[in-house]
Amino acid sequence: MTILFAAGDWRWPIWEAPLRAAMRDAGLDDGALTLRADPATVEAMVYAPNAETPDDFTPYSRCKAVLSLWAGVERIVTNRTLTQPLCRMVDPGLTQGMVEYVTGHVLRTHLGMDTLSRTRWQPVPPPLAAERPVAMLGLGTLGTACGQALACLGFPVLGWSRRAKDVPMIECHHGREGLRGVLEQAQIVVTLLPATADTENTLNAETLSWLPAGAAIVNPGRGTLIDDAALLEALDSGQVGHATLDVFRIEPLPQDHAYWAHPRVTVTPHIAAETRPATAAQVIAENLRRLRDHEPLLHRVDRAAGY
Ligand code: NAP
Repeated sequence: MTILFAAGDWRWPIWEAPLRAAMRDAGLDDGALTLRADPATVEAMVYAPNAETPDDFTPYSRCKAVLSLWAGVERIVTNRTLTQPLCRMVDPGLTQGMVEYVTGHVLRTHLGMDTLSRTRWQPVPPPLAAERPVAMLGLGTLGTACGQALACLGFPVLGWSRRAKDVPMIECHHGREGLRGVLEQAQIVVTLLPATADTENTLNAETLSWLPAGAAIVNPGRGTLIDDAALLEALDSGQVGHATLDVFRIEPLPQDHAYWAHPRVTVTPHIAAETRPATAAQVIAENLRRLRDHEPLLHRVDRAAGY
């Protein structure tokens, strides 16, 4: 089997050793992994989209799977030349990073850490978590892990997904009608939806108006989930009290973007959750083993749904 590492040459030194080790642990020949190969010989691809990596998959005629290093696949899922199964990244290390980011920023918001005075004694205790409902938009791998971690801290968590779900510790809602009920109760909204045509502008002028005045938003999902103009207007009016934004329509966020200077916005530079080679390499190796043994691949992307 020839397995092409197509994620950018600069990533090869970071990924080569963990991938080879994980392949050996999975009983695979790690000599199959390569940075260069004749496309016609490639049987599987470890992939991340960037200027160096292929966006025409037609020459990879023997390739049986494209294994994404990233959880979000919006840059590749609509590629018509990609006819092979596409698997996205579900990495325990990435999930743990997202749980830490989301719980950290929800607690920061909940405890009013940004508004604490450094010069005046203002003894206003925050409410308990039990009095601060959190909406979790997206109940996939990351939304479920983050929602359950917040529930363990005492927050009532209302989850929202495309299809009906039953997730322990989370009050589940779904579909368009479910969104309103969730947002009307939420004092903090976390968005962990994929970027698809259906999720674009999930938070817009209308849906932001459903929130209780002063609610906060934490978006580590994707920039397209939010109508930026509507959010800026809601921040200016106080309808949204604060937004912590990790992802943007254009990244890096342009230096002249209104978010940078807005007193009610915290920008983080797409650092919520990285794929971690030590754990992610094992996920890739397991799928390569499944490919060799003709078993169903894990974390297959539903091309029609777009995630
Ligand atoms: P996932 O497991 O595929 O879960 C996606 C969730 O979104 C599912 O619950 C799905 O509903 C829901 N959803 C999709 N379309 C919807 C719609 N139209 N209406 C309502 N709900 C919808 O994805 P994940 O692993 O949790 O990751 C979520 C996203 O996080 C990724 O796509 C990526 O964009 C982002 N991310 C960001 C970072 C970062 O560093 N900032 C890192 C990793 C990932 P169903 O359950 O009904 O399918």
